[in-house]
Amino acid sequence: MIKFSDLQNINQKYAEALKEAAAAVIDSGRYLFGKRVNEFENSLAAYTNVSYAVGVSNGLDALRLILLAYVQTGQFKKGDEVLVPANTYIATLLSVFHAGLVPVLVEPDLETYNMDFNLIESRINSKTKAIILVHLYGRVCWDSKLKELADQYGLKLIEDNAQAFGAEWEGLKTGALGDAAAFSFFPTKNLGALGDAGAVSTNDGELASMVRMLSNYGSSEKSLNKVKGFNSRMDEIQAAFLQVKLKIVDEENELRRNLASQYLETICHPEIVLPKIDGALGNKSHVWHLFVIRSSQRNLLQQYLAERQIQTQIHYPIPPHQQEAWAEFEGLCLPITEKIHQEVLSLPLDPSLSKEDIEEVCRVINKFSV
Ligand SMILES: *Cc1c(COP(=O)(O)O)cnc(C)c1O
Repeated sequence: MIKFSDLQNINQKYAEALKEAAAAVIDSGRYLFGKRVNEFENSLAAYTNVSYAVGVSNGLDALRLILLAYVQTGQFKKGDEVLVPANTYIATLLSVFHAGLVPVLVEPDLETYNMDFNLIESRINSKTKAIILVHLYGRVCWDSKLKELADQYGLKLIEDNAQAFGAEWEGLKTGALGDAAAFSFFPTKNLGALGDAGAVSTNDGELASMVRMLSNYGSSEKSLNKVKGFNSRMDEIQAAFLQVKLKIVDEENELRRNLASQYLETICHPEIVLPKIDGALGNKSHVWHLFVIRSSQRNLLQQYLAERQIQTQIHYPIPPHQQEAWAEFEGLCLPITEKIHQEVLSLPLDPSLSKEDIEEVCRVINKFSV
Protein backbone atom coordinates (compact mmCIF):
# COMPACT_ATOMS: atom_id res chain seq x y z
CA MET A 1 0.00 0.00 0.00
CA ILE A 2 1.40 3.42 -0.94
CA LYS A 3 -0.21 5.82 1.49
CA PHE A 4 -1.06 9.46 1.04
CA SER A 5 0.75 11.57 3.63
CA ASP A 6 1.53 8.93 6.24
CA LEU A 7 2.25 11.13 9.26
CA GLN A 8 3.50 8.26 11.39
CA ASN A 9 6.16 7.53 8.80
CA ILE A 10 6.91 11.19 8.10
CA ASN A 11 7.60 11.94 11.78
CA GLN A 12 9.44 8.68 12.43
CA LYS A 13 12.82 10.12 11.56
CA TYR A 14 12.33 12.88 14.14
CA ALA A 15 10.87 10.61 16.83
CA GLU A 16 13.76 10.69 19.30
CA ALA A 17 14.30 14.45 19.04
CA LEU A 18 10.55 15.10 19.32
CA LYS A 19 10.27 12.97 22.45
CA GLU A 20 13.19 14.80 24.01
CA ALA A 21 11.65 18.14 23.12
CA ALA A 22 8.31 17.11 24.63
CA ALA A 23 9.98 15.86 27.81
CA ALA A 24 11.84 19.17 28.22
CA VAL A 25 8.57 21.12 27.92
CA ILE A 26 6.76 18.81 30.36
CA ASP A 27 9.56 19.13 32.91
CA SER A 28 9.77 22.91 32.52
CA GLY A 29 6.27 23.49 33.94
CA ARG A 30 5.81 26.27 31.41
CA TYR A 31 3.37 25.56 28.60
CA LEU A 32 2.52 29.04 27.27
CA PHE A 33 4.45 32.35 27.11
CA GLY A 34 7.77 30.56 27.44
CA LYS A 35 11.14 30.75 25.80
CA ARG A 36 10.40 28.07 23.22
CA VAL A 37 7.79 30.10 21.34
CA ASN A 38 10.20 33.00 21.48
CA GLU A 39 13.05 30.93 20.10
CA PHE A 40 10.94 29.51 17.33
CA GLU A 41 9.67 32.97 16.37
CA ASN A 42 13.28 34.17 16.13
CA SER A 43 14.27 31.15 14.06
CA LEU A 44 11.30 31.62 11.75
CA ALA A 45 12.03 35.33 11.27
CA ALA A 46 15.70 34.55 10.52
CA TYR A 47 14.78 31.72 8.11
CA THR A 48 12.29 33.89 6.25
CA ASN A 49 14.54 36.95 6.50
CA VAL A 50 11.89 39.26 7.97
CA SER A 51 11.97 41.48 11.04
CA TYR A 52 9.07 39.90 12.95
CA ALA A 53 7.41 36.52 13.36
CA VAL A 54 4.49 35.95 15.73
CA GLY A 55 3.40 32.44 16.69
CA VAL A 56 -0.37 31.88 16.74
CA SER A 57 -2.77 28.95 17.07
CA ASN A 58 -3.23 27.97 13.41
CA GLY A 59 -3.07 29.19 9.83
CA LEU A 60 -6.64 30.47 9.64
CA ASP A 61 -6.03 32.64 12.69
CA ALA A 62 -2.74 33.89 11.22
CA LEU A 63 -4.63 35.20 8.18
CA ARG A 64 -7.56 36.50 10.22
CA LEU A 65 -5.33 38.31 12.71
CA ILE A 66 -3.37 40.04 9.93
CA LEU A 67 -6.64 41.36 8.47
CA LEU A 68 -8.06 42.29 11.89
CA ALA A 69 -4.84 44.08 12.78
CA TYR A 70 -5.26 46.25 9.67
CA VAL A 71 -8.86 46.92 10.73
CA GLN A 72 -7.78 47.72 14.28
CA THR A 73 -5.11 50.16 13.12
CA GLY A 74 -7.65 51.91 10.90
CA GLN A 75 -6.19 50.86 7.57
CA PHE A 76 -9.18 48.69 6.60
CA LYS A 77 -12.80 49.17 7.61
CA LYS A 78 -15.80 46.88 7.77
CA GLY A 79 -17.14 46.09 4.28
CA ASP A 80 -13.85 46.71 2.48
CA GLU A 81 -12.98 44.22 -0.22
CA VAL A 82 -10.09 41.76 -0.41
CA LEU A 83 -9.19 39.95 -3.61
CA VAL A 84 -8.67 36.23 -3.05
CA PRO A 85 -8.10 33.35 -5.44
CA ALA A 86 -11.28 31.44 -6.30
CA ASN A 87 -9.14 28.28 -6.42
CA THR A 88 -7.97 27.88 -2.84
CA TYR A 89 -8.70 26.15 0.41
CA ILE A 90 -11.75 27.61 2.16
CA ALA A 91 -9.62 29.08 4.99
CA THR A 92 -8.45 31.92 2.78
CA LEU A 93 -12.02 33.14 2.24
CA LEU A 94 -13.09 32.51 5.84
CA SER A 95 -10.34 34.74 7.20
CA VAL A 96 -11.68 37.65 5.14
CA PHE A 97 -15.25 37.04 6.25
CA HIS A 98 -14.33 36.70 9.92
CA ALA A 99 -12.45 40.01 9.77
CA GLY A 100 -15.67 41.73 8.63
CA LEU A 101 -14.36 42.16 5.09
CA VAL A 102 -15.70 40.97 1.75
CA PRO A 103 -13.86 38.33 -0.32
CA VAL A 104 -13.82 39.01 -4.07
CA LEU A 105 -12.96 35.88 -6.02
CA VAL A 106 -10.42 35.95 -8.84
CA GLU A 107 -10.14 33.08 -11.32
CA PRO A 108 -6.86 31.13 -11.58
CA ASP A 109 -4.50 30.59 -14.47
CA LEU A 110 -4.98 27.01 -15.73
CA GLU A 111 -1.19 26.55 -16.10
CA THR A 112 -0.24 27.55 -12.55
CA TYR A 113 -3.56 26.96 -10.70
CA ASN A 114 -2.73 30.23 -8.91
CA MET A 115 -4.49 33.59 -9.19
CA ASP A 116 -4.41 34.93 -12.77
CA PHE A 117 -2.41 38.15 -12.48
CA ASN A 118 -4.01 39.52 -15.64
CA LEU A 119 -7.46 39.54 -14.03
CA ILE A 120 -6.53 41.41 -10.88
CA GLU A 121 -6.74 45.00 -12.07
CA SER A 122 -10.29 44.63 -13.42
CA ARG A 123 -11.49 43.54 -9.95
CA ILE A 124 -10.07 46.54 -8.10
CA ASN A 125 -12.46 49.32 -7.05
CA SER A 126 -12.55 52.03 -4.40
CA LYS A 127 -13.35 49.48 -1.66
CA THR A 128 -10.47 47.16 -2.47
CA LYS A 129 -7.86 47.16 0.29
CA ALA A 130 -5.77 44.02 -0.17
CA ILE A 131 -4.89 41.00 -2.26
CA ILE A 132 -4.28 37.61 -0.66
CA LEU A 133 -1.88 35.56 -2.75
CA VAL A 134 -2.00 31.82 -2.08
CA HIS A 135 1.07 29.80 -3.06
CA LEU A 136 -1.17 26.85 -3.85
CA TYR A 137 0.26 23.31 -3.77
CA GLY A 138 3.66 24.85 -2.86
CA ARG A 139 4.14 26.83 -6.09
CA VAL A 140 5.12 30.46 -5.60
CA CYS A 141 2.40 32.90 -6.65
CA TRP A 142 4.21 36.18 -7.17
CA ASP A 143 5.05 38.67 -9.87
CA SER A 144 6.94 41.95 -9.91
CA LYS A 145 3.88 43.77 -11.25
CA LEU A 146 1.96 43.00 -8.03
CA LYS A 147 4.03 45.56 -6.16
CA GLU A 148 3.33 48.18 -8.85
CA LEU A 149 -0.42 47.49 -8.68
CA ALA A 150 -0.35 47.62 -4.89
CA ASP A 151 1.48 50.95 -4.92
CA GLN A 152 -0.80 52.39 -7.59
CA TYR A 153 -4.03 51.46 -5.77
CA GLY A 154 -2.78 51.56 -2.17
CA LEU A 155 -3.33 47.86 -1.52
CA LYS A 156 -1.74 45.51 1.00
CA LEU A 157 -0.25 42.30 -0.37
CA ILE A 158 -0.81 39.38 1.99
CA GLU A 159 0.65 35.92 1.43
CA ASP A 160 -1.19 32.78 2.43
CA ASN A 161 1.98 30.74 2.85
CA ALA A 162 0.30 27.67 4.35
CA GLN A 163 1.39 25.41 1.50
CA ALA A 164 4.78 26.81 0.43
CA PHE A 165 7.11 26.80 3.43
CA GLY A 166 10.67 27.24 2.16
CA ALA A 167 9.81 28.23 -1.41
CA GLU A 168 11.70 31.11 -3.04
CA TRP A 169 11.04 33.83 -5.58
CA GLU A 170 14.15 35.56 -6.92
CA GLY A 171 16.13 34.66 -3.81
CA LEU A 172 13.42 35.79 -1.38
CA LYS A 173 11.55 33.29 0.76
CA THR A 174 7.77 33.11 0.61
CA GLY A 175 6.59 34.91 3.72
CA ALA A 176 8.93 37.80 2.91
CA LEU A 177 7.37 38.85 -0.40
CA GLY A 178 4.36 40.92 0.66
CA ASP A 179 3.37 43.22 3.52
CA ALA A 180 2.53 40.27 5.77
CA ALA A 181 2.23 36.51 5.50
CA ALA A 182 0.36 33.72 7.24
CA PHE A 183 1.91 30.31 7.93
CA SER A 184 0.13 27.11 8.87
CA PHE A 185 1.94 24.30 10.65
CA PHE A 186 -0.97 21.86 10.36
CA PRO A 187 0.63 18.38 10.64
CA THR A 188 0.58 17.60 6.90
CA LYS A 189 2.12 20.90 5.78
CA ASN A 190 5.79 20.94 4.65
CA LEU A 191 6.73 22.18 8.13
CA GLY A 192 4.16 20.39 10.26
CA ALA A 193 3.59 20.53 14.01
CA LEU A 194 2.05 17.65 15.99
CA GLY A 195 -1.23 19.50 16.31
CA ASP A 196 -2.37 22.99 15.35
CA ALA A 197 -0.02 25.94 15.04
CA GLY A 198 0.51 28.94 12.78
CA ALA A 199 2.49 32.17 12.50
CA VAL A 200 2.50 35.64 11.00
CA SER A 201 5.61 37.15 9.41
CA THR A 202 6.09 40.81 8.49
CA ASN A 203 8.59 43.67 8.39
CA ASP A 204 5.92 46.02 9.77
CA GLY A 205 6.52 46.47 13.50
CA GLU A 206 3.15 48.08 14.17
CA LEU A 207 1.35 45.20 12.47
CA ALA A 208 3.40 42.59 14.35
CA SER A 209 2.59 44.20 17.73
CA MET A 210 -1.11 44.40 16.90
CA VAL A 211 -1.24 40.76 15.78
CA ARG A 212 0.50 39.72 18.99
CA MET A 213 -1.87 41.82 21.09
CA LEU A 214 -4.97 40.52 19.29
CA SER A 215 -3.75 36.94 19.73
CA ASN A 216 -3.58 37.48 23.49
CA TYR A 217 -6.92 39.03 24.52
CA GLY A 218 -5.88 42.44 23.23
CA SER A 219 -3.24 42.67 25.90
CA SER A 220 0.50 43.23 25.78
CA GLU A 221 0.84 43.91 29.48
CA LYS A 222 -0.76 41.63 32.06
CA SER A 223 -4.28 42.76 33.05
CA LEU A 224 -4.28 45.69 30.61
CA ASN A 225 -6.55 45.21 27.58
CA LYS A 226 -6.06 47.82 24.92
CA VAL A 227 -8.24 46.25 22.22
CA LYS A 228 -10.88 43.51 22.03
CA GLY A 229 -8.73 40.51 21.24
CA PHE A 230 -8.86 36.75 21.00
CA ASN A 231 -7.08 33.76 22.41
CA SER A 232 -4.87 32.48 19.61
CA ARG A 233 -1.41 31.72 20.95
CA MET A 234 1.17 29.11 19.99
CA ASP A 235 1.83 26.42 22.63
CA GLU A 236 5.35 25.84 23.97
CA ILE A 237 5.18 22.17 23.02
CA GLN A 238 4.33 22.89 19.37
CA ALA A 239 7.10 25.52 19.22
CA ALA A 240 9.55 22.94 20.57
CA PHE A 241 8.47 20.41 17.93
CA LEU A 242 8.66 23.00 15.16
CA GLN A 243 12.17 24.05 16.21
CA VAL A 244 13.28 20.42 15.76
CA LYS A 245 11.65 20.09 12.35
CA LEU A 246 12.74 23.51 11.06
CA LYS A 247 16.31 22.25 10.96
CA ILE A 248 15.48 19.60 8.36
CA VAL A 249 12.73 21.24 6.34
CA ASP A 250 15.06 22.35 3.52
CA GLU A 251 16.37 18.81 3.19
CA GLU A 252 12.82 17.50 3.09
CA ASN A 253 11.80 20.02 0.47
CA GLU A 254 14.75 18.82 -1.61
CA LEU A 255 13.50 15.24 -1.26
CA ARG A 256 10.05 16.40 -2.38
CA ARG A 257 11.64 18.09 -5.42
CA ASN A 258 13.49 14.93 -6.37
CA LEU A 259 10.34 12.83 -6.14
CA ALA A 260 8.38 15.44 -8.11
CA SER A 261 11.05 15.41 -10.85
CA GLN A 262 10.78 11.66 -11.01
CA TYR A 263 7.00 11.91 -11.49
CA LEU A 264 7.45 14.60 -14.15
CA GLU A 265 10.00 12.54 -16.06
CA THR A 266 8.18 9.22 -15.80
CA ILE A 267 4.45 9.81 -16.10
CA CYS A 268 3.48 9.75 -19.73
CA HIS A 269 -0.21 9.47 -20.50
CA PRO A 270 -2.44 11.23 -23.03
CA GLU A 271 -5.25 11.62 -20.48
CA ILE A 272 -3.09 13.24 -17.82
CA VAL A 273 -1.89 16.82 -17.50
CA LEU A 274 1.23 17.19 -15.35
CA PRO A 275 2.01 20.23 -13.18
CA LYS A 276 4.40 22.77 -14.66
CA ILE A 277 7.21 24.63 -13.01
CA ASP A 278 8.23 28.05 -14.21
CA GLY A 279 11.68 27.47 -15.72
CA ALA A 280 12.55 31.15 -15.43
CA LEU A 281 11.94 31.09 -11.66
CA GLY A 282 13.96 27.91 -11.11
CA ASN A 283 13.67 24.87 -8.91
CA LYS A 284 13.12 26.60 -5.61
CA SER A 285 9.94 28.32 -6.77
CA HIS A 286 8.07 25.09 -5.92
CA VAL A 287 8.22 23.03 -2.72
CA TRP A 288 5.69 20.41 -3.83
CA HIS A 289 3.37 20.48 -0.85
CA LEU A 290 1.17 18.52 -3.23
CA PHE A 291 1.82 16.85 -6.58
CA VAL A 292 -1.39 17.57 -8.45
CA ILE A 293 -2.20 16.12 -11.84
CA ARG A 294 -5.30 16.75 -13.91
CA SER A 295 -7.47 14.36 -15.92
CA SER A 296 -10.95 14.52 -17.43
CA GLN A 297 -11.19 10.91 -16.14
CA ARG A 298 -10.21 11.90 -12.59
CA ASN A 299 -12.76 9.82 -10.67
CA LEU A 300 -12.05 6.67 -12.70
CA LEU A 301 -8.33 7.22 -12.29
CA GLN A 302 -8.64 7.62 -8.53
CA GLN A 303 -10.66 4.43 -8.27
CA TYR A 304 -8.22 2.56 -10.52
CA LEU A 305 -5.30 3.62 -8.32
CA ALA A 306 -7.15 2.76 -5.11
CA GLU A 307 -7.82 -0.76 -6.44
CA ARG A 308 -4.06 -1.07 -6.95
CA GLN A 309 -3.23 0.02 -3.37
CA ILE A 310 -2.25 3.59 -4.22
CA GLN A 311 -3.92 6.27 -2.08
CA THR A 312 -4.67 9.64 -3.62
CA GLN A 313 -6.61 12.71 -2.52
CA ILE A 314 -8.46 15.58 -4.15
CA HIS A 315 -7.45 19.16 -3.34
CA TYR A 316 -10.19 20.15 -3.52
CA PRO A 317 -13.42 18.43 -4.60
CA ILE A 318 -15.82 21.38 -4.18
CA PRO A 319 -14.80 25.00 -4.84
CA PRO A 320 -15.45 27.49 -2.02
CA HIS A 321 -18.07 29.43 -4.03
CA GLN A 322 -20.15 26.26 -4.42
CA GLN A 323 -20.06 25.32 -0.73
CA GLU A 324 -23.29 25.51 1.23
CA ALA A 325 -21.56 27.88 3.69
CA TRP A 326 -21.19 30.54 0.99
CA ALA A 327 -24.78 31.13 -0.02
CA GLU A 328 -23.81 34.66 -1.07
CA PHE A 329 -21.95 33.17 -4.03
CA GLU A 330 -24.89 31.07 -5.22
CA GLY A 331 -25.14 31.17 -9.00
CA LEU A 332 -21.65 32.57 -9.41
CA CYS A 333 -19.96 30.94 -12.39
CA LEU A 334 -16.19 30.48 -12.29
CA PRO A 335 -15.49 28.00 -15.10
CA ILE A 336 -11.72 27.64 -14.67
CA THR A 337 -11.98 27.07 -10.92
CA GLU A 338 -14.79 24.58 -11.47
CA LYS A 339 -12.86 22.70 -14.16
CA ILE A 340 -9.84 22.42 -11.85
CA HIS A 341 -11.98 21.07 -9.01
CA GLN A 342 -13.47 18.46 -11.34
CA GLU A 343 -10.14 17.29 -12.74
CA VAL A 344 -7.42 17.48 -10.09
CA LEU A 345 -5.92 14.51 -8.29
CA SER A 346 -3.08 14.63 -5.76
CA LEU A 347 -0.59 11.76 -5.99
CA PRO A 348 1.35 10.51 -2.96
CA LEU A 349 4.37 12.74 -2.38
CA ASP A 350 6.06 13.22 0.95
CA PRO A 351 9.63 12.90 2.23
CA SER A 352 9.03 9.42 3.62
CA LEU A 353 8.37 7.91 0.18
CA SER A 354 11.10 6.18 -1.79
CA LYS A 355 12.09 6.32 -5.45
CA GLU A 356 10.67 2.81 -5.72
CA ASP A 357 7.29 4.00 -4.41
CA ILE A 358 7.14 6.75 -7.03
CA GLU A 359 8.28 4.32 -9.73
CA GLU A 360 5.41 2.02 -8.78
CA VAL A 361 2.85 4.85 -8.93
CA CYS A 362 4.17 5.90 -12.37
CA ARG A 363 4.12 2.35 -13.68
CA VAL A 364 0.50 1.87 -12.64
CA ILE A 365 -0.59 5.30 -13.93
CA ASN A 366 1.03 4.80 -17.32
CA LYS A 367 -1.03 1.62 -17.78
CA PHE A 368 -4.34 3.35 -17.01
CA SER A 369 -6.79 2.87 -19.86
CA VAL A 370 -10.09 4.62 -20.13
C1 LIG B 1 -3.90 24.66 5.59
C2 LIG B 1 -4.29 25.94 4.96
C3 LIG B 1 -4.77 27.03 5.70
C4 LIG B 1 -5.19 26.94 7.13
O1 LIG B 1 -4.31 26.47 8.01
P1 LIG B 1 -4.80 25.82 9.41
O2 LIG B 1 -3.54 25.77 10.19
O3 LIG B 1 -5.37 24.49 9.09
O4 LIG B 1 -5.79 26.76 10.00
C5 LIG B 1 -4.98 28.22 5.04
N1 LIG B 1 -4.78 28.34 3.72
C6 LIG B 1 -4.34 27.32 2.98
C7 LIG B 1 -4.12 27.52 1.52
C8 LIG B 1 -4.10 26.08 3.56
O5 LIG B 1 -3.69 25.06 2.80
